[in-house]
Amino acid sequence: MQTHFSLAQLADPHVEAANSILRKCVHCGFCTATCPTYVLLGDELDSPRGRIYLIKDMLENDRPATQEEVKHIDRCLSCLSCMSTCPSGVNYMHLVDTARVHIEKTYSRPAPDRMIREVLARVLPYPDRFRLALMGALAGKPFAGLFAKVPALKPLAAMLRLAPGLPHGRAADDKGGVHPAHGTRRARVALLKGCAQPVLNPGIDEAAIRLLTRQGVDVVRVKGEGCCGALVHHMGREEEALNFARNNVDVWIREMETEGLDAILVTTSGCGTPIKDYGYMLRLDPAYAEKAARVSAITRDISEFLPTLDLPKAETPRGMRVAYHSACSLQHGQKVKTPPMDLLRRVGFEVVEPFDPHLCCGSAGTYNMLQSEIAGQLKARKVATLEALAPDVIAAGNIGCMTQIGSGTGIPIVHTVELLDWATGGPAPAALAGRAKAA
Ligand code: SF4
Ligand code: SF4
Repeated sequence: MQTHFSLAQLADPHVEAANSILRKCVHCGFCTATCPTYVLLGDELDSPRGRIYLIKDMLENDRPATQEEVKHIDRCLSCLSCMSTCPSGVNYMHLVDTARVHIEKTYSRPAPDRMIREVLARVLPYPDRFRLALMGALAGKPFAGLFAKVPALKPLAAMLRLAPGLPHGRAADDKGGVHPAHGTRRARVALLKGCAQPVLNPGIDEAAIRLLTRQGVDVVRVKGEGCCGALVHHMGREEEALNFARNNVDVWIREMETEGLDAILVTTSGCGTPIKDYGYMLRLDPAYAEKAARVSAITRDISEFLPTLDLPKAETPRGMRVAYHSACSLQHGQKVKTPPMDLLRRVGFEVVEPFDPHLCCGSAGTYNMLQSEIAGQLKARKVATLEALAPDVIAAGNIGCMTQIGSGTGIPIVHTVELLDWATGGPAPAALAGRAKAA
């Protein structure tokens, strides 16, 4: 694609990076076929190629974003399915991130939209605030239907509907600590605590810790760690996202340089994608560029690390059919597609995939609250294709997908590590209580 940025514009490293990305796009449109919003809405401006044109025009003309541009870019899930499909290697992720920052800086959103985004940015990344909000949501749940009738309050209705129940309290290792390896130590890893996951489902990391320590891995909960920054990053709130990243880089580098770490493991793939990108996000910060690149280099989704441990192989099938939902952040953002399924098969589960595994479930961070109608349609579609497999259980590697899909089906949904832990000596996942037949 030809671009027409001036030399003065290209002096800005963000514009220069956007220019390089734009020039790689050859307009072929292959990406449109796998874009969830194009599949649903059929509008070129809701496709990756259409959005790329909108972003190009907005940045080239160096003008404030228009309402129309914001509408179509806001509808993008950042699912990155387009990046998996694109034959030209267009880094749509970095391009849309730049567009979101531009929108945040130049566009004045209507007051209710501004307010809801402010609340999300100030609550979700902080576990204690999120706990309080969930308790409030329980009281507000009966009014969700009422709020849904007022367009400006739809995000609030979506939040109330998604609130899963009473939040979980702080874990014993909330302030940091080490879970020592059983037997001879084979590795020492940090396990990201995250912000929303421990409040919604602490059982995921409990399973991960049991699984890892049984296999001879020291698991460190690093003191001072905070949100990965993904939630605000996807809202274009760049400085806040970078500050979350800087904090985590500081605490992980301290641990790497003192006790040492073989890897930083993540059980929420929505957090893993930006942490693996910290090196890029902080490349222009001389105090952090090198440290952030080191952090990104040792960050792994847990399903990438577990194959190095040779989990015990099942001799006989466990008689349980698992429908595996591939989180976009894992399959498209991190290109980790088969390891979770290989691991589940190794320990004896039958694993099946829906016919549209590349399509997003509509969760996408705060998307299911901010774009609740499109998110609802994507959820219904995903639930239907998963239920068509008649599984005993659905497995995924991201709490956002688990909450989204779980709110639309009666089939139990668990994290991949909960099944792996169970199959290798741990307890049955809480979601399978009373139904477990593979122990
Ligand atoms: S990130 Fe997903 S929703 Fe956004 S343009 Fe790409 S495929 Fe479409
Ligand atoms: S597939 Fe890649 S090169 Fe083709 S239109 Fe989409 S982004 Fe551009």
